Amino acid sequence: MALQGAPVSELVARLQGVRARIESAARACGRDPAHVKLVAVSKTHSATAIREVYGAGQRAFGESYAQELHDKAAQLADLADVEWHFIGHLQSNKAKVVAAHARVVHTVDSESLARELGKRAAKESRVIEALAEVKLSHEPTKHGARPEELEPLLVAIEREPSLRLRGLMTMPPPDPDLARGAFSTLSSLRNLHGGAARLPELSMGMTADLEIAIACGATVVRVGTAIFGER
Ligand SMILES: *Cc1c(COP(=O)(O)O)cnc(C)c1O
Repeated sequence: MALQGAPVSELVARLQGVRARIESAARACGRDPAHVKLVAVSKTHSATAIREVYGAGQRAFGESYAQELHDKAAQLADLADVEWHFIGHLQSNKAKVVAAHARVVHTVDSESLARELGKRAAKESRVIEALAEVKLSHEPTKHGARPEELEPLLVAIEREPSLRLRGLMTMPPPDPDLARGAFSTLSSLRNLHGGAARLPELSMGMTADLEIAIACGATVVRVGTAIFGER
């Protein structure tokens, strides 16, 4: 609890600003803001910064690199209810590290990764929430299953007893005008593949485009820069 009259730290003020953006974007399209989860993307930022944002009530943090996740999880092991979300490109040889820490992996992009992550989660006696990453942009640096590869990927995740299929994720193109198209395509793909009963979560929207993502149905937004500053 902050002392009355004490200055709010810059990080906490930024976090509150992002929460306000989410709230007004949700209200603007008649959605309940409680149905949009904020993942604070802390990659490249310090454990100290995460601790401060945690102190303001934030629990879900997103990391993109397996080793960095491992180090921060160790440094912050005293924060019992911190929730780690893995949002980076995951190679099978790093699945073991991620399976030890992540509650949610947003970036399952191949059947072989689903099998490996499932195996590693089972060895850790953990159940991991999995999102299938869909590639909707033509940029060669983007990862994800193509829409026509999505159904076999979803089935591969569902076959793993230690993974729980939760939804779809995409990385939008950097141009917000193109982002809207990608977000509405992700939402249509959900409808094509079983709707919200099978795929309750749509992880889409970042600092530049979270309002557009929420208007298109995002249930999870992943926000880094607006909270932690430039990387
Ligand atoms: C870094 C990253 C984000 C956060 O991006 P910002 O523009 O800093 O909000 C979101 N999602 C993924 C997958 C990322 O790698």
